[in-house]
This record gives sequence, structure tokens and C-alpha cells, in this order.
Amino acid sequence: MSIGPEEQLARQILDLATLTGWRVFRVENSTRLVRRRSGAMVRARNVNIGGVGFPDLVLVHEKQRRLLFRELKADGKYPEPDQREWMRVLLALGADCDVWRPKDWPRIESTLTGALRSVVAFPLKGDCA
Ligand SMILES: [Mg+2]
Repeated sequence: MSIGPEEQLARQILDLATLTGWRVFRVENSTRLVRRRSGAMVRARNVNIGGVGFPDLVLVHEKQRRLLFRELKADGKYPEPDQREWMRVLLALGADCDVWRPKDWPRIESTLTGALRSVVAFPLKGDCA
């Protein structure tokens, strides 16, 4: 069975996050399609009440003192209303909450490796100072 782009992205993130010292809580599916005995497919909730739409990943880095909430989407896909509502509330509280898509990989990698926060001082050459 092949996996979709969102699942592929999730696995890539989990691999890199683990290597770079993040603790990751993953909400695998806040809703999923299940088949009733009648054969009908219904969308069932499999997380606690209120959890529908909660971001896919909660990432914690104790040393970097960072807490991230990330919704994962395939390129060109956008969060559903339930997901947007969770994001709205988290952002309103000042949380670091965002959507990550496969095309964002360079940004994802920088975030996870902390590259954006490391300060690099470039010494000025005498002739251009
Ligand atoms: Mg998602």
C-alpha cells in the first residue's frame, strides 16, 4: 500500500525530529472513515471530545524551550474548518502554530535543526569594512 504525501511528510518529520532532540506527540487521525455493518462508510471520531481538528503534531524541545503545533497537509491542500478553529485559538494564545507541507521542507528542516536561531558572525574583511 502506498502512503500519501502527508503521511510521507509526517514520517520525514518524525525521523528528523527524533534525531534532533524533539519529543513529538502525534495525533494520527482526529477523525477516520470506518465501515458500518451495513457497509456504509461513516466518519468517526477517535480522539477525546473536542479533539477534532487538533493539529497533527505537538513538538517539544526542552533545551531550545520551544513548543510547536503543526498541521500537516499535502501541497495545495488547506486546513478544514475544525482545524482552522484550533489554529486560530492556539495562535490567539501566542502559540507557535503553523501548517507544514512537503514544499516547506527547507523551512521545516531549519526549524527542527534550530539553524534559524544560530547566530553566525561573519568577520568583515578589512577592505570592505
Ligand atoms: Mg493533517
